[in-house]
Amino acid sequence: MQRTDVERIEQEVAGYPDQFQTAQRQFDAAARFLNLDPGVREILRNVQRILTVNFPVHMDDGSIQIFTGYRVQHNLHRGPTKGGIRYHPDVTLSEVKALAMWMTWKTAIFNLPFGGAKGGVVVDPRKLSKNELENLTRRFATEISLLIGPNKDIPAPDVGTNAETMAWIMDTYSMHVGYSVPAVVTGKPIAIGGSEGRTEATGRGVMIVTLEALKHLGIPTDKATVAVQGFGNVGSNSARLLADQGTKVVAVSDENGGIHNDAGLNIADLLRYSQEHGTIKGFPNAEPISNADLLELPVTVLVPAALENQITQRNAGRIKARIITEGANGPTTPEADTILHQNDIFVIPDILANAGGVTVSYFEWVQDLQHFFWSEGEINNRLDQIMRKSFNQVHETAQRHDVDMRLAAYIVAVGTVAQASVARSIYP
Ligand code: NAD
Repeated sequence: MQRTDVERIEQEVAGYPDQFQTAQRQFDAAARFLNLDPGVREILRNVQRILTVNFPVHMDDGSIQIFTGYRVQHNLHRGPTKGGIRYHPDVTLSEVKALAMWMTWKTAIFNLPFGGAKGGVVVDPRKLSKNELENLTRRFATEISLLIGPNKDIPAPDVGTNAETMAWIMDTYSMHVGYSVPAVVTGKPIAIGGSEGRTEATGRGVMIVTLEALKHLGIPTDKATVAVQGFGNVGSNSARLLADQGTKVVAVSDENGGIHNDAGLNIADLLRYSQEHGTIKGFPNAEPISNADLLELPVTVLVPAALENQITQRNAGRIKARIITEGANGPTTPEADTILHQNDIFVIPDILANAGGVTVSYFEWVQDLQHFFWSEGEINNRLDQIMRKSFNQVHETAQRHDVDMRLAAYIVAVGTVAQASVARSIYP
């Protein structure tokens, strides 16, 4: 039995569904609603390409260690594929396939000319030195250079990777072809063709759609309280930008645990503290809170911004937030979704809520291809417009068909991709 099978069975026994099955169930609901042709359905519910690589890395002690990584392309019907690279010890092929499929839907809702892809390496990046991480990244980039390229498949950061990782990939790819190819990755440092506003873009998108939801529900921003799970790129930027807009962020967490203060947390101080200590744990003027309890706080807005399977049938009935803005990919299981819907909790699904990152990645790719760069103001304005437009398109779809926001988002996304597939006569 392969390792991924063992992990899947362990997850199911533990009550956590397999991520790719979750992604397929979400797709199936939309396919049924759209009465999609069975052939089209079969193609879209599977991934198109999977590359598994086992590659050696020189460690600092002189030894060689073998790592496993994946690059998955779900669908190429609307353009080159796009999606992040994750470094995490729990990465599985099923997870990478699910994340690739979610990227296809995300780019379709926002009408970005991409299909979905994702990559991952089974590694805990915090256990490697910088030198080892660079060796690993360059070797992984070489392995997946079969698939990636500015017109083929364009990676970006995800959990455990950042702008520095993207710089190493861009440099490795450029060395192979003999000239600089900035457009091969997005989320790069500005100095090598990165875009203004990219680092905070996912958090900015989370903030924008949350404000739209508050407006729709008639809740004044300054009366809204917020809890954020995860304080990495997405969580910390979401917390900061939501606080800047006048909401009160009362709790945040990372993998070491959480902190809580009903009077509100000072996010600027918290960011400094987190940078100095590498965690938010121990931040003064706040009470400790577990990750599980944070999810069940009586807040206006809950932003899961860590990993998958956080809101399940076990805890969904105890969630008290009025709005859930899914900063993370796949934080809610389908069973939990049903419970949240019954309890009238307004869920802004991941494929809508966290698409600010891929949207500004698209801006970065366009700027790189044109060698012409935009100001931060232009980026943020365009992001604001496209996020609000997509939120309202999904919201109108939800109201028109009397379905929840997740199914509405899937109806828009799957309909868009199916149209492209049919237009290309991919199914004779
Ligand atoms: P990151 O590595 O920067 O941060 C992850 C954070 O989650 C860290 O604070 C970590 O301590 C915390 N965490 C991990 N396990 C946890 C747990 N069990 N409980 C609480 N906190 C935990 O990653 P990121 O880029 O911020 O990504 C977070 C999520 O957002 C992922 O699901 C990712 O796929 C999604 N996402 C990221 C982007 C992006 O642009 N980076 C875009 C769209 C979606």
